[in-house]
Amino acid sequence: MGLHVFLFLLVFFFPLFLVRLWHLDWLPLRPFSSKGGAKYSTLQRLLKPRSPDDCPACRLSSTVSSAGGPALMPVRPWPEVKSRRGVPKRIDTEGFACPNQHCSYFGITDAHTHALVGDGKHGQAERIQTFRCQACHTTFSARRHTPLYRLKTPSHQVALVLSALAEGLDASAAERVFGYRHATITSWLTRAGRHAELFHEHCFRNLHLPHLQLDEIRTRLRRSTQVLWLWLAIDPRTKILPVLQLGPRTQHMAHVLVHSLRQSLAAFLHSTFHQ
Ligand SMILES: [Zn+2]
Repeated sequence: MGLHVFLFLLVFFFPLFLVRLWHLDWLPLRPFSSKGGAKYSTLQRLLKPRSPDDCPACRLSSTVSSAGGPALMPVRPWPEVKSRRGVPKRIDTEGFACPNQHCSYFGITDAHTHALVGDGKHGQAERIQTFRCQACHTTFSARRHTPLYRLKTPSHQVALVLSALAEGLDASAAERVFGYRHATITSWLTRAGRHAELFHEHCFRNLHLPHLQLDEIRTRLRRSTQVLWLWLAIDPRTKILPVLQLGPRTQHMAHVLVHSLRQSLAAFLHSTFHQ
């Protein structure tokens, strides 16, 4: 009799027990397209943009490029345009360019092509060269578009302070050592940092880096409680850092990193990189 009761209880309660386990997800009986699987696949899809439309930065750049700017016309060298009369040019203008965007010689740094000549010097702490474009008559300082533009402190003093900061000296310590205000030193550092960023972007182009590692590092600025992430791409063989971005740990930052990396790589790698 006892055996019959035991068998009855076993047959009646065992299916209920299995149903309970199934509800608690302890039995892997659910198909892959269940609720959890759908979440996982959605997350994967968000982290893997497959076309430029998935990246806001790529979309913006493609819009700008498709809009198209004015076609670049070949510029006739200024020595061929101007009269052969007059004194020859004495000031070396190689590397400088006319800053007037409406001038046909805008941005041309070649001294054999552009229309720049020396136009005296200015400045009290030190003499700074002034240039003049003979085509549009625009005058500008040799320090234009540099970190030293419109600074009254002598350039060698600024260079000394920035060198000390680059070696690891704190801005407050530099204030005590060199006697300049903290805000002044921070302003010089910000100017130099922006210029260094532009210089980096100018030099790091058409890179041939077949092996790259992309990573983000958790960091925190000095005296700041805010956690930031350092997004970087590194070539493990040469240790070159073609891209370095500081920001939050968001998908937007990931897009920015990949977009900047794509711009710095050589053209033949673009198709491979986007796959
Ligand atoms: Zn000009």
